Amino acid sequence: MMRRARLLIDTAAMRHNLGVAREAAGTRSIFAAVKADGYGHGLLTAARAFSAAGTDGFAVATPGEGLALREAGLTERILVLQGALTADEFAVAAERSLDLVFHELAQLDLLDQHAASLPPGRIRAWIKADTGMHREGLMPESVPAARERLLVCPAIGGSIGLMTHFARADEPGTAPTEQQVETFRAIAAEGPGETSLCNSAGLLGATAVGGDWVRPGVMLYGGNPFIFGEAAQFDLRAAMTLKTVLVAVRQVPRGESIGYGGRFVAPETMPVGLASVGYGDGYPRHAPDGTPILVNGQRSQIVGRVSMDLVTVDLRGIQAQVGDEVECWGSGLPIDQVAQSAGTISYELMCQVSGQLRAEGTILGQ
Ligand SMILES: *Cc1c(COP(=O)(O)O)cnc(C)c1O
Repeated sequence: MMRRARLLIDTAAMRHNLGVAREAAGTRSIFAAVKADGYGHGLLTAARAFSAAGTDGFAVATPGEGLALREAGLTERILVLQGALTADEFAVAAERSLDLVFHELAQLDLLDQHAASLPPGRIRAWIKADTGMHREGLMPESVPAARERLLVCPAIGGSIGLMTHFARADEPGTAPTEQQVETFRAIAAEGPGETSLCNSAGLLGATAVGGDWVRPGVMLYGGNPFIFGEAAQFDLRAAMTLKTVLVAVRQVPRGESIGYGGRFVAPETMPVGLASVGYGDGYPRHAPDGTPILVNGQRSQIVGRVSMDLVTVDLRGIQAQVGDEVECWGSGLPIDQVAQSAGTISYELMCQVSGQLRAEGTILGQ
């Protein structure tokens, strides 16, 4: 162990959360999103947990991530959200039977260039339609021609899927999402094939949306996909817990400041704990005074600026001594509360945990 901070990954929580997604999905199939190293939980750790819980497939960003899943022996469908760009990536997709998203017309040209060297019928194609998010995707009027091109390409097998992504599903009931759904339905009516619309927020919040597949991500790790409320309201459990220990406890005199920049000034003589975790571990440096943190299971707050591998903690009213346990977020403290305090979202905190901590992490629930 090179660090005192420790990452615990609870695969039982992931399996449970997949069950919550399954319930919400009804008859729809599930692509469990495991991009960005399984949202920081480990690509294979996450994928194996979701496989054990019966997911129908996985969503990854790149063909390389799909290859890693196949090499680990996973046989479910794999949807590659960014699709393929190079000859190698198309070859991997064909050899490993990946589902490729086509979100950009240039990808159709590249497919045509490489199709002759690909085995026939091994790649499943999905067209990503831009229904209003305007990040990526083909504009609705380009979809029919793209579908025709994919249908006649020998490397593509089966019917052509159609998907889209919501820009504002984290604010349920808003007109932009409804508008996106309407636009999607109009395009989907023009051709057969599987459809997919929902991320976690769409799955839990926009219940009447439909489609054949859903693509939940953050909810499977216990994050709240909405801009309000708590993950626990949906019976979601934290898959990631970041813990450390107190390495010092001291009294800071009234009127003295703590840490870099003197950001926090003690309003009274007060006990302050030093926890062995910082931005080098992935704890957000922008966390302000008052960001919640648990000491011995008691709710406290950070005081003073976050250092590279230390944070200072308010110990007023808290029983604590050197060596005691500190939880930054996880099973005892929702990650969304820390994220909100630090002006970010749970996704970023999950992905930001340092590689060293992830490599040394403990996997629970297997
Ligand atoms: C990441 C991603 C998802 C999963 O989103 P969550 O908000 O984590 O549920 C679904 N669809 C696409 C296209 C994505 O990029």
